Amino acid sequence: MLEGKVAIITGGTRGIGLETVRLFCENKAQVVLFGSKKETVDKALATLKEEGMEVSGYYPNLSDFHDVEKVVEEIHSKYGHIDIIINNAGISANKKIEETTTEDFAKIMDLNVNAIFNMTKATVPFMKENKGGVILNTSSMVSIYGQPSGVGYPASKFAVNGLTKSLSRELAPFNIRVNAVAPGITKTDMVASLPKEMIEPLIKTIPLGRIGEPRDIANAFLFLASDMASYVTGEILSVDGAARS
Ligand code: NAD
Repeated sequence: MLEGKVAIITGGTRGIGLETVRLFCENKAQVVLFGSKKETVDKALATLKEEGMEVSGYYPNLSDFHDVEKVVEEIHSKYGHIDIIINNAGISANKKIEETTTEDFAKIMDLNVNAIFNMTKATVPFMKENKGGVILNTSSMVSIYGQPSGVGYPASKFAVNGLTKSLSRELAPFNIRVNAVAPGITKTDMVASLPKEMIEPLIKTIPLGRIGEPRDIANAFLFLASDMASYVTGEILSVDGAARS
C-alpha cells in the first residue's frame, strides 16, 4: 500500500511507533524512525534487522527546530523525497495539579505539541515541492474527554487535534493531508507504567472488552497514510474499542 513512499515515524523505537514501522515496511515503504537516544534507536534497528527489515534511524532533539531541520534535510537529500511523517513520540502524565510543576507541564508540551510543530515546519517545504504529502499525528481518546489527573497530557492532545484540524485546512491546497489517530488504552510501555488501579476500571468501560494492541493503531495509520484515504483530511480517527470515558 505504500510502495515508493518515504515515511518518517517519531517515537519509532517501541510501542505504537515500532509496530507502525513494521507495518509500513511490510507495505513496502522506506521507513526512517526517530527515537530519543542512540542506544534505543540502535536497539530498535537491530530488532527490525533480525526480522528482515532495513530501516534507518536518527535521534534529533524534537523540541529544537534547528536540530529537527538538519536531520530532515539530511533524510531528504538521502531519499530525494519525504512523503509521510507520523508525529507519534509522546509522554504521559498522571499527577494531580498540586503535584504537577510548571517544568512537568512545559516538558509534556515540549514533546507532545512543540515537536509536532517542529517536524511539520521542517517537512512541509519538501512536501510542497513534491506536490503532496501526508502528515499524521498521534492524539488520544483523552483529547475528547480529558482525564481525571495529569492535566498536561489531555491538554497536549487537545492541542494535537487543533494542529491537525487547522493544518489540514492550511495545507489542503497543496495536496497535503493531515489527520490524527486517537488511540484508546493500548498495550505499550506507556500503559505498563500506569498504576493497576487506573487501568483495570478503564478496561471494564471498553465495549469491545479489551485494551488495544499496537497493531490496531498501526492499521489506522496505514489506512490514513495510503491512497485509500485520498479524500480524508482533518479527521481525528478514534481507535479505542468504543471506550468513551
Ligand atoms: P511508548 O512509551 O511505548 O513509546 C513512546 C515513544 O516516544 C518511544 O519510541 C520514545 O523513544 C519516544 N519518546 C519518548 N520521549 C521522547 C523524547 N523526549 N524525544 C523523542 N522521542 C521520545 O508509548 P506509546 O504508548 O507507544 O505512545 C506512542 C504515542 O501514542 C504517544 O503520543 C502517546 O501519547 C499515544 N497514545 C498512547 C496510548 C496508550 O495507551 N499507549 C493511548 C493514547 C495515545
